[in-house]
Amino acid sequence: MPRLDQELTRLLGERRMLTSPDALLAWECDGFTVHKSRPRAVVLPETTAEVQAVLRLLHAAAVPFVPRGAGTCLSGGPTAGGDAVVIDLARMRKVLHIAADDLYAVVQPGVVNLDLTQAVHHLGLHYAPDPSSQSVCTIGGNLAENSGGPHCFKYGMTQDHVLGATIVLPDGELAHLGSAAGPRHQGQLDLLSVFCGSEGTFGIATEIIVRLCRDQQGVRTLLAAFDSMTAACRTVSDIVAAGLVPAALEILDQATIRAVEASVYRAGYPADAAAVLLVELDGPHQVIEEEAAEVRTFFARNGALRSEEATDPYERKRLWKGRKGAFGAMGRLNTDLYVLDGVVPRTRLEEALAGIAAIGERHGVLLTNVFHAGDGNLHPNISYDGRDAAQTARTIAAGREILQLCVDLGGSISGEHGIGSEKLDHVRMMYGDHDLEVMAKVRAVFDPAGRCNPGKVLPQRGACAEVAKWPQMVAKVLDVEERR
Ligand SMILES: Cc1cc2nc3c(=O)[nH]c(=O)nc-3n(C[C@H](O)[C@H](O)[C@H](O)COP(=O)(O)OP(=O)(O)OC[C@H]3O[C@@H](n4cnc5c(N)ncnc54)[C@H](O)[C@@H]3O)c2cc1C
Repeated sequence: MPRLDQELTRLLGERRMLTSPDALLAWECDGFTVHKSRPRAVVLPETTAEVQAVLRLLHAAAVPFVPRGAGTCLSGGPTAGGDAVVIDLARMRKVLHIAADDLYAVVQPGVVNLDLTQAVHHLGLHYAPDPSSQSVCTIGGNLAENSGGPHCFKYGMTQDHVLGATIVLPDGELAHLGSAAGPRHQGQLDLLSVFCGSEGTFGIATEIIVRLCRDQQGVRTLLAAFDSMTAACRTVSDIVAAGLVPAALEILDQATIRAVEASVYRAGYPADAAAVLLVELDGPHQVIEEEAAEVRTFFARNGALRSEEATDPYERKRLWKGRKGAFGAMGRLNTDLYVLDGVVPRTRLEEALAGIAAIGERHGVLLTNVFHAGDGNLHPNISYDGRDAAQTARTIAAGREILQLCVDLGGSISGEHGIGSEKLDHVRMMYGDHDLEVMAKVRAVFDPAGRCNPGKVLPQRGACAEVAKWPQMVAKVLDVEERR
């Protein structure tokens, strides 16, 4: 066994330092299963001091590393290969402190998003950003990805809910960014906001201070079924144009509805509808009553086929079950799922969806759509069989065209899932050499040797050989597709 592996084993013990090929299988990819590659080793630290000790050993040996939470990322962010060691933070799952009066909590990075809300529920509090993966994904992963979720239309992304973080830098030194009083102090650089969304390329967050929100007096969830996607999108535009700010505005298309209704996530959505729109309102009871009445008029104006409302927690949970389980339900459609993530200005949603359907048809791929309509954040999903090379190639080619379409419509290649390794090849759709150089300089401040999650986010940084194979594979696939 090489000396580094021996030292890591001595530090953490055999059960928390894994190297056998069988054990490493579970870490060979994240939710972006198109690209798989096995790391050299996986370590499972439990404290900040252990993370520091591990990073010092890796620094001395000049070995790259990749932080990992629950591995639900959809852009290949925590996938490692070659010589890289995965630092799995799932065992660091303690809620360290709850300051109910000051509305914040201090957590370890492996705390599961929903577990945090459950830990403060009895105090009438919750943690607002709620990715649909919230029952599994970690606060550390959320910070690194600046994750969103259905309720971010009103409440903002992770960035708006983190106040501070303790970071272990790639050489094992500590940095404290922000504080319980907030990340932005007069005369200080807001480095926490720079770290947020850095996708594990700046260091490892080992303690995170998050904002807690008071539960609203009331919540009302409304669902409307439409006979066209256009009608559903127009209803969203009407609601926003009227000045309403619902907590959530989510749309599922017909193929998604049918997959959900045939699965364990069945929510009672009408299977004949072309689209369903979920609208969630929260606030004082009186305000909700008035807003719900307004929303109903927009449903009627756009010819809703049917609508229903949940006023109690059980009915609300049922209506959300289909939306939150939508990606899981896609498992019924094929063996693999490529979840895309692009943004367009909300007013161009209809145009984008028509373009996406055309791209799907041209490439002969099975496309479904479920999306955060309020934010114009689309999630076109391609169900494919990853064992079939031709299908996989068509999937990748269609995905690239869809993201180009989003950019052409004035949007972006990611709303919340990040760049990771998946979109390395697409970054230049939005940024030129100079932009990328500036970003690389910022990254080098945190990670001068480029050993922290190498080969992710910025195309020009050196990737370890295994990770670098992915963009090469994309280029090859696109070349073959173009010649077809
Ligand atoms: C079914 C499903 C639904 C989803 N819905 C949403 C959604 O609604 N909104 C949304 O935004 N995303 C969504 N996602 C994507 C994903 O859940 C988020 O990106 C999430 O934040 C990843 O958290 P994780 O703990 O799984 O992190 P991982 O996947 O393990 O890692 C993600 C990135 O963070 C880095 N990282 C992890 N922990 C740390 C740390 N402590 N310090 C530094 N870097 C770290 C990793 O290196 C990696 O680059 C969904 C995914 C799935 C599978």
